[in-house]
Amino acid sequence: MIKAIRGTKDILPSEISRWHYLENIIKQIFSNFNYKEIRTPVFEETTLFGRSIGEETDIVSKEMYTFKDKGDTSITLKPEMTAGVVRAFIEHSLGGQQPLIKLYYISPMFRQERPQAGRLRQFHQFGGEALGSSSPVLDAELIQISYDILKSLGLKDLTVKINSLGVPESREDYKKLLREFLLNKKDKLSEDSRKRFDTNILRIFDSKIESDQELLKGAPLLIDNLDGESENHFEVVKEYLDKISIPFEIDPKLVRGLDYYTKTTFEIISKKVGSQSALVGGGRYDLLAEQLGGKPTPAVGFASGMERILLACESENSFSVKDDNIDVYIVRIDEELEMFVSETASKLRRSGLKADYDYLKRSVKAQMREANKSNAKFVLFIGGEEYKNKMANLKNMETGEQRSVQLDKLDTVLINSLKR
Ligand code: AMP
Repeated sequence: MIKAIRGTKDILPSEISRWHYLENIIKQIFSNFNYKEIRTPVFEETTLFGRSIGEETDIVSKEMYTFKDKGDTSITLKPEMTAGVVRAFIEHSLGGQQPLIKLYYISPMFRQERPQAGRLRQFHQFGGEALGSSSPVLDAELIQISYDILKSLGLKDLTVKINSLGVPESREDYKKLLREFLLNKKDKLSEDSRKRFDTNILRIFDSKIESDQELLKGAPLLIDNLDGESENHFEVVKEYLDKISIPFEIDPKLVRGLDYYTKTTFEIISKKVGSQSALVGGGRYDLLAEQLGGKPTPAVGFASGMERILLACESENSFSVKDDNIDVYIVRIDEELEMFVSETASKLRRSGLKADYDYLKRSVKAQMREANKSNAKFVLFIGGEEYKNKMANLKNMETGEQRSVQLDKLDTVLINSLKR
């Protein structure tokens, strides 16, 4: 038997109402903030990701699904969205049309990571990107959007962590300090951290290994070595978060796994989803557009994992959705009325009603069972004497009340009854 690929998941009809509920909240909140949806292709030229996320990052060096197409072009399934959004922003000169452009997306992403609860190889992210302003108010706005979405889902156990990575110049100075601090401890670092010492020393802070964290105790922190502008920027972000009542913690070790960040970085963590606890990750990326060949465009964004959010919602039991129910189920009393019943259903559907009936020539009893299963609000019985008189019997499944209805008035009667 052929099975779904490891790390991928079918989203079955029984789960889809929760996804729709989440997607509706995402769309509603982004629209309140006047963000417009963008959809970019699932695959891009491989170089786009190396040049934006960074060749030395885990995503690019280990996790990408990369292959050659028939024209021998190296293609990669998108592991995140910001690179594609910035590519589209430059390609379509979106900045020329509007000085500040606010975008959001909902899309599958692909990373070849070791699958576990909350970590998949095809997963879904939603996220927002604001391009064209260096205002710290936008950093706070994006934190607010992601926080408000999680809150609207009923999640409680959330921690917002923020940090600033400064600008490349101050970061380079700081990296020297950190290198000096770790130099005589280098041999004791884990293998991964030793590699990072040479390639991406900040990422040592990300290490989950206790002995690495022990060695980092007392290390100089980037947040204490920021340039003046980054420091001011961070102050305003904090002030604004206070104003809009978003509780946050400063986490000087929050370095994030992507190279393009400048100044603010943030994460939202849920304590309810085990080791894969980051629900949201984001930050400012003021230099990325230029790096990809566009005009200098300060920007800020975030991405959020939807499977993880739904896991957190489940473990907090934060919302419940009712299964979709249909408006009317038509029960055919006389077998020869098959054609008439399907014709009636199609008329009702064209009037905007959710209608269904039995396609399998089943008994009246079996049809009733089906009507109950589909949670129909009304059941319409067609056949017998009533049919000869151009009438049908309509039963309200909630109250049990039944009445005779003229067949040519079915749609108006149903629409009026459903309004009540
Ligand atoms: P990142 O782009 O790595 O900052 O990820 C942003 C968010 O996407 C994370 O906080 C997670 O919620 C989610 N995410 C990242 N990688 C995965 C994955 N492999 N499986 C499921 N969710 C993920």
